[in-house]
Amino acid sequence: MKEEIVIEESSVEAVEDAVQRQKKFFATGQTFAKEKRINVLKQLAQLIRSNEREIVTALKNDLNKSETEAYMTEIGFLLEEIRFAIKKIDSWMKPVKVKTAKTHIGSKGYQVAEPYGVTLIIAPWNYPFQLQLAPLIGAIAAGNTAILKPSELAPHTSRLLSRLIKAEFDPNYIAVLEGGIETTNHLLEQPFDYIFFTGSVPVGKIIMQKAAKQLIPVTLELGGKSPCIVDETANLTLAAKRIAFGKWTNAGQTCIAPDYLFIHHSVRDRLIEEMKKVVKDFYGSDANQNESYPKIINQKHFNRLKRYLSDGDILFGGQVNEDKHKMAPTLMKPFEMSSSLMTEEIFGPILPILDYETLDEVISFVKKRPKPLALYLFTTNNNTEKRVLKEISFGGGCVNDTLMHIATPYLPFGGVGESGIGSYHGESSFVAFSHYKSILKQTNRFDLSLKYPNAKNSLKLM
Ligand code: NAD
Repeated sequence: MKEEIVIEESSVEAVEDAVQRQKKFFATGQTFAKEKRINVLKQLAQLIRSNEREIVTALKNDLNKSETEAYMTEIGFLLEEIRFAIKKIDSWMKPVKVKTAKTHIGSKGYQVAEPYGVTLIIAPWNYPFQLQLAPLIGAIAAGNTAILKPSELAPHTSRLLSRLIKAEFDPNYIAVLEGGIETTNHLLEQPFDYIFFTGSVPVGKIIMQKAAKQLIPVTLELGGKSPCIVDETANLTLAAKRIAFGKWTNAGQTCIAPDYLFIHHSVRDRLIEEMKKVVKDFYGSDANQNESYPKIINQKHFNRLKRYLSDGDILFGGQVNEDKHKMAPTLMKPFEMSSSLMTEEIFGPILPILDYETLDEVISFVKKRPKPLALYLFTTNNNTEKRVLKEISFGGGCVNDTLMHIATPYLPFGGVGESGIGSYHGESSFVAFSHYKSILKQTNRFDLSLKYPNAKNSLKLM
């Protein structure tokens, strides 16, 4: 039997105390040394490795994630990010030299990365372990302290994170404050030096408004409706597999899951047939009975998803298991573009399908909506690829694949417009948590006098 966990809000006193202690600790300069940063990153990797079993269990309890999925999308992902940060930290910390302008002869210019200070990292529930700790890697690598606020909707992971971090780290350096909206509101009143938020667009707006009151810089990793386009030249067998992987990993509760599919009308029926086969291959004939297929996080989201089922014809799937909060992989043909199915972020296992005749239709449809976090294009036509990449603005994405752009430390990950501000992963995590001081070091060997008011040939405006 899994234990019921209810996450209590943190008191305003606990929140203030945690921030003030970190302020004092940061001021001692102990987070600055490279060796310290590397040691803490190693400690974090060791903490993850030695508690793998507990992490997998918490993710199973919160989302019914399988061990493979938990390892691939949460544990393994973090270990790789930490390995990469440790390997690269030396070069990331080096001052970046810049050229000297002709007007500045004799001087040298460079930029130095300095930590912001005390940072706040707020996480959502869908990859509750990974999305809490991936930004922390950047925060530590860049020399900050951090307060973590896990999602109250993934209570087993929240509790585990709190316990593990408390046991391993000095709370003056890294601390967890559990809770929901009330706790977040207390936190947002504090004088943080940086806020890193992952979550929904509406809450992202609240975070930015509150941060603006104190001019606290933010990274916002948000969501939205990410389109997936399949043209008539695509390899349909591969497209079906890769779209199914991207859509039904974590039962569609992924910020960059394909939200809706645009298929060229000439290949529509073939692609749908291929997708039906793939779903059966991946999950068996009844996905809801498959022990490895994730559940929907809670009753509220389960009800929200069930409502979408009446917004169109179900082409495939649609079965639900009320007791287990499971919904089978589902393809739908929407009735109306104005329905909730086609206007809200689905964030679940339902994939609406639209067919199109010309690429212009697709481009114009996507451009009329908020800029997506991700876009996926399946094609073998170079012109189609060029047009889509040039004409549509989106956070990031893949050509002939889904999700995989998020899983490499060499590609910064983030949104644009409504889907987010800023990016992270690999070096961009270090950059996100650093302020780059621009320094000009002047020579004392000579002194160009033209700039002074008493210079004979001082510069005069014509
Ligand atoms: P959410 O915005 O509801 O919650 C995120 C965090 O904010 C949680 O810790 C929660 O406690 C807190 N919160 C919720 N409501 C709040 C309020 N009114 N005031 C202050 N704090 C509040 O998001 P969610 O439901 O946990 O996650 C799903 C959303 O996150 C989706 O939109 C998804 O696309 C997005 N997401 C984005 C990324 C990304 O990397 N861009 C990754 C995962 C999820």
